[in-house]
Amino acid sequence: MVSAIVVRGLEDAGLKRFIPAFAAISDQAFLGLMMSDYPSHGVVDLEDKQKLFRLIKSISAASKASGEAPSHPAVEKPNALIDLDENDGDLLSDAGVAFQLSPLSNQKGAAPPAASTNNQDDPPKIRVVVRKRPISKKERERGDEDVVDVLTKSSTVVVNEEKVKVDLTKYVEKHAFKFDEALDEQVSNEAVYQLTVGPLVRTLFRSGRASCFAYGQTGSGKTYTMSPLPIRASADIFTYMAQQQYRDISLCVSCFEIYGNKVFDLLNQRKKLNILEDGKRKVVVVGLKEFTVDDVEGVKALIEESSKQRSTGSTAANSDSSRSHSIMQFALKRSAPVAPSGFRRGEEPPEPKVVGKISFIDLAGSERGADTFDNNRQTRLEGAEINKSLLALKECIRALDSDARHVPFRGSKLTAVLRDSFVGDQARTVMIANISPCSTSVEHTLNTLRYADRVKELRKDKADRTPGGVTPGDEAYYAAVARAAVPGPEPMERDKDRFDHRDRDRDRERDRGPDRFVSPPRQQGFRMASAAGAVSDTDGSAAALAERHDELMDSILLEEENLVAFHRAKLEEDMETMRQEMALLQEVDKPGSEIDHYVEQMTALLNIKRQGIQELQAKLDAFKAKLREEEALSRTVHKIRA
Ligand code: ADP
Ligand code: MG
Repeated sequence: MVSAIVVRGLEDAGLKRFIPAFAAISDQAFLGLMMSDYPSHGVVDLEDKQKLFRLIKSISAASKASGEAPSHPAVEKPNALIDLDENDGDLLSDAGVAFQLSPLSNQKGAAPPAASTNNQDDPPKIRVVVRKRPISKKERERGDEDVVDVLTKSSTVVVNEEKVKVDLTKYVEKHAFKFDEALDEQVSNEAVYQLTVGPLVRTLFRSGRASCFAYGQTGSGKTYTMSPLPIRASADIFTYMAQQQYRDISLCVSCFEIYGNKVFDLLNQRKKLNILEDGKRKVVVVGLKEFTVDDVEGVKALIEESSKQRSTGSTAANSDSSRSHSIMQFALKRSAPVAPSGFRRGEEPPEPKVVGKISFIDLAGSERGADTFDNNRQTRLEGAEINKSLLALKECIRALDSDARHVPFRGSKLTAVLRDSFVGDQARTVMIANISPCSTSVEHTLNTLRYADRVKELRKDKADRTPGGVTPGDEAYYAAVARAAVPGPEPMERDKDRFDHRDRDRDRERDRGPDRFVSPPRQQGFRMASAAGAVSDTDGSAAALAERHDELMDSILLEEENLVAFHRAKLEEDMETMRQEMALLQEVDKPGSEIDHYVEQMTALLNIKRQGIQELQAKLDAFKAKLREEEALSRTVHKIRA
């Protein structure tokens, strides 16, 4: 008897009337059916045959992906986050809440820290840490200045932005941001580990899920920060594993890269990997290679291998590691206990169970999200995907901690793949925002700090988290900062001025979706216009077109994938048809064969082929039309802005 999944699949595919015909066979037999077997189950109509063919393919793919036979879909745990894609993000775009908790608002949130504050055993769900890298000799030589102050004690970062007034006098605008931790250029990688991933390692041994991200512009120190973390974490993991109670646990390492909307295995010659959804709507990376390691040297070797594969690929045209997210995953697996009677003959030993999992993510350069109007289409598409993934990531992290019922995992490849790091009570996230100290990078630095700031601004239990953590309060400090800025209007005025900037940013956010990246020249233009008290028409129409362009990019990214998947499925269908043609030819060559049968079968097969080509052609044409529209729109926006 086929399982409920197959029965439902038959129903959904419009093949309900054939359910009794498959009652006598197992799922395995069902999935192994060839097209030539279909008539023996009563499926003779061409269209029905195709439907059945596709159904079998999709169930096989999903069950292969999940590494198990199709089973009943899992019942959602009552407390699990629910993913309702049609409402994705609705709950999160509540600008009112976001505004209220901004660091410059008048929130009086600083309640005394609760006793559990520093509980190492239960690290906070989200930690946001900023790390400033040192200025290099070269940067100094070319006249760059260090414009970032890190106030370690108050976990605050201050960016001193030099500005020019209308009368051309210069002044410094100070921007202060408070985080869980602010790390200056003196802080070692070991200290970074202790403040970020270190406390999470223990949780991995009791079903923990963790992820650690490095965010920032290219050259801000993401890779420098991220690459030692897995090595250091593995040392701690092996220490735990040496204990008697963890003897049956092993560490499995995998590593992949998300480039555009494709995924590549960094431990298997950058093989392209497919992403599929299994029967439980869980996204799985199919065929990702995993290595079991038993010492730190093993982990180091894998990291070296992956960074080698990453850089080898980047010599090719249009390929650049700053445009990809690289992800290293550790899975702690417990081998299933062997039953006293051992295994029965022919029975597979049970799969090891994943106890804990941690992902280390070196994100694409945040400035790459602004490439959506580049001259090169590939660059534009990659930029759009990066933009999308960084926004989706922020929304997912925010959702983690705000009782959100809708988590927008499906917003991007990145978040879809990392979904299991975000779901459940045991999920922990650390975001490390890397910043450059240079005066020439000030726009990017501010963008990074604003991003990191929004990641944590929805936290509802600020008070009983890390002491001095993210509570916006601290009026005295902001007042001092405002007074320190010379020359300029009165402190109050300045504060108000800054408020207005944020207000405007938020308005734009609400209008066009959350923080669309703004390329520096464009932002400059906007500033000038608003300083003069008017936003020109050109800006307005460009914004409308840019919005249409954003939508188009989204749909192109999605349709590209659909087109390729459709093509692949068609090809499999073609191969099956071809096999049948060959069988038919063999048949007809035999003495005494019936020519009528041959003609009839041949006609049916040609019909299948013709229909297939037509469908593929139609999809291709629709896609080409989208590409043309995007090209034209991109040029128009470019012209308006120029
Ligand atoms: P990203 O990965 O963000 O593009 P990198 O990690 O490659 O940036 O860092 C850029 C440069 O700055 C590298 O030469 C790196 O060695 C150096 N660097 C980054 N952070 C630090 C730091 N905290 N201390 C010393 N050098 C650093
Ligand atoms: Mg890097």
